[in-house]
Amino acid sequence: MTTSPADKPKSYFPLAGGGNDGWSTEDEATATCFCSAVQLKFPTQGPGLVNKFVCNCSDCHKITASMFASNFTIADTHLTHVRGRENLTAYGQSRTIATGSTMTNYFCKTCGTLMYRVSSGSPGMSILRIGTVDDFALHETKLKPSVEQFIKTRVGWLHGVEGTVADNEGTVVSWKL
Ligand SMILES: [Zn+2]
Ligand SMILES: [Zn+2]
Repeated sequence: MTTSPADKPKSYFPLAGGGNDGWSTEDEATATCFCSAVQLKFPTQGPGLVNKFVCNCSDCHKITASMFASNFTIADTHLTHVRGRENLTAYGQSRTIATGSTMTNYFCKTCGTLMYRVSSGSPGMSILRIGTVDDFALHETKLKPSVEQFIKTRVGWLHGVEGTVADNEGTVVSWKL
């Protein structure tokens, strides 16, 4: 099947939270917190976009307040804080990380949105959240997860992400989350 420009999904920016200035281009897009104080800019292709994955680990249950996290990793050399970096607060711990690395989470101080995580074992990489990306069309296309990990702690009422590599231990993506 060939694709033409007409087949490309149209950008769609649903109304969500306090902001309305998200955007995307052919190769870049924004991710914004719920209150809009914090906004990131990132590339939607390699080499800046490193991987895309769903995680069912017990830490992800807690930090998302949901039953899985949908993530993508961006090389810090390609990540821009558009605004609100000073409005991020950090919480990190290593107790639950099998490798012993410290995983530090960066939240918006105002609304609590988790914007990204950083592992001491993978310096230079930030793990962003697909749900903070403003253009819904990217959730369906360029940011669609290719790996699903920690299947052993996936709840029985979820049945896996279509088209992903299932990884019980979190070893395909090379760091524990
Ligand atoms: Zn916020
Ligand atoms: Zn996880």
